[in-house]
Amino acid sequence: MEKFQAFLSCLPLPGRVGDVSSYPRSFVRKDDTDLFMIRTSESDFLVARGPESPRFSGEHFVFEGVPAVVAPLSHENAAVLRVLVPFTAPVRVLGRERTFGVGDRLGIAGPGHLRVFELHPDVSPVLAQQSVREITLTHRTFAEVLDSATFAVFREGFTRGFGADGDHLKKPEEVKTALETGYTMITLDCSEHIRNDVADMSSAQVAAECPLDSELRSRYLDHPFLVEGQPIVFQEDSLRRCQLVYGKAIAFATQIFRDLMNHGNGTADFEISIDETMTPTTPLQHFFVANELNVRGVKVETLAPRFCGEFQKGVDYVGDLRQFEAEMQIHAAIARHFGYKLSIHSGSDKFSVFPLIGKYTRGRFHVKTAGTNWLEAMRVVALTDPQFYREIHAFALSAFGEARKYYHVTTRLDRIPALETLTDARLPELFDQNDARQLIHITYGLILGATQPDGSSRFRTRLYQLWRKEESRYFDRLQRHIGRHIDLLLSTVNQ
Ligand code: ZN
Repeated sequence: MEKFQAFLSCLPLPGRVGDVSSYPRSFVRKDDTDLFMIRTSESDFLVARGPESPRFSGEHFVFEGVPAVVAPLSHENAAVLRVLVPFTAPVRVLGRERTFGVGDRLGIAGPGHLRVFELHPDVSPVLAQQSVREITLTHRTFAEVLDSATFAVFREGFTRGFGADGDHLKKPEEVKTALETGYTMITLDCSEHIRNDVADMSSAQVAAECPLDSELRSRYLDHPFLVEGQPIVFQEDSLRRCQLVYGKAIAFATQIFRDLMNHGNGTADFEISIDETMTPTTPLQHFFVANELNVRGVKVETLAPRFCGEFQKGVDYVGDLRQFEAEMQIHAAIARHFGYKLSIHSGSDKFSVFPLIGKYTRGRFHVKTAGTNWLEAMRVVALTDPQFYREIHAFALSAFGEARKYYHVTTRLDRIPALETLTDARLPELFDQNDARQLIHITYGLILGATQPDGSSRFRTRLYQLWRKEESRYFDRLQRHIGRHIDLLLSTVNQ
C-alpha cells in the first residue's frame, strides 16, 4: 500500500499531486502490465505500469526500473485499451434475453449507469447509443461516444460486456461510419421511406396506386396466418395499404442488410426502426414488415414498431392503456414468431407501461432510454446550485421555440411555474412536472451549445465542472431512476 502511494506521488501529472486517487474497481493486470484509472481534481487518467505501457501515448517514465505511463483519456488510448483489455470493447448483446440502452449525451453518466447493471446481472447494457441528431446537437462524434463507454467500463471493472448502438441512422454513409468506428449495433431508421399519407387515402386511390401482383396475392390473400394461435388476416385493401406505406422501407432495409451488414454475419446486430412516423404501426402492418423482411432473408435482432398512444420524451406514457396492452400482446407474439425481440424506443420514464412490456415480451426485450439521464444531471444542478439553474431555465424558456423543431412534444410552457414564485428549495420539484421536464429535455443541445459574446461557452464548462464535483450525487440519482425502469420491467417477468 505504501509502495503504491509512493508510486502515485511520483506520477508526472500537470498541476497539484496532493489530490490524486485511484478508482479501486479499475485495477486489471494484462500479462505483466498493471492498468488502472486515477482521478485528479481536473480530470481522469489511465495509468499503465509494465511492458505494455509504451503502447499508450502520454507522459512516459520509469518507476523502480519498470516503464510506466500516465495517459490521457484520448481516442488513441481508448483504442489501445480495447485491444489490451477486451471487456472494454463493445460486443453484440442484442441476442441476450434482456437488453437496455442508456444513451449518455454528456459522456459522464456511464459509471452511474453501470451500478444499475451490477445490481441486475440478467440485464445487459447498451452504453454507447446516440443518434446522428444527438451527436450533431451535442457536437460530439461516434468515436467519442464509444470512448466514453470504454473508459466507464474500465473505471468500473464491468466485465460482462456492453453494446454500442449507432442509433436512428438514416443514410448508408452513417451506417458505414458507425461500423468503422466499432459500433456493434445498427439501428436503421426507415422513417424517410415510410409513407404517412396512406391512411387518408380512399380505397379507390389505394387500388389505383398499388395494383397487387400475383406474388403478393398468393403470399397474403389465399390463407390467414396464425401467430401463437391468433389469426392475422389480410384483405385486398389492407394489403395494398401495407405495401404502399412500407414497401420502400423494406427495400431500403434489405439493401443496407446486404450491402453493409454482411447479411447478418458481420460485427454488428441489426435493428430496424419504423417508430418515427406519424401513425402507429398496427399489428397487421408489423406482421407484413416482418414477413417481407423474412422472405428477403433479412435477419434482424430487434424491430421497433411505433406503438399506439404517445411515447414522448422524458414523461410517462400518454394513451389508452387497455389498447396498448391488447396490441403489445400481439406485437410481442409477432416478434417471437419471427425470432427477434421487440425494441421499445423513447423508453425514458414510461413507468405505467413497463409491467405490460415485461409481461407480454416474457422478459425478452430491448428498451432504449436517452435523455432521462440528462434530466437527472440537470436536477443535480437545481439541487446544488439554484442560482445557476435559474439562469439555465430562463435560457431554456427563450430557446424552446427553436428546440421544438427537432422533437415532437405537447409541452405547455404556461403550465410551468414561474421561477420567481419558487424558492431555491423547491426548484428540484420542476423535475417532477411534465412540462418543465420536456422543456429541459429538448433544449439540451441549445443549452450545451450556448456561447458568450466572446465565443466561449455560456453554460457548458461550468456545468461539467459542477457535475464532476457532484458526481456521487449524480450517480445516486441515476441508480435510483434507471433502476426504477428496470425494476418495473422485471416486475411481471416470471424468473
Ligand atoms: Zn426511435
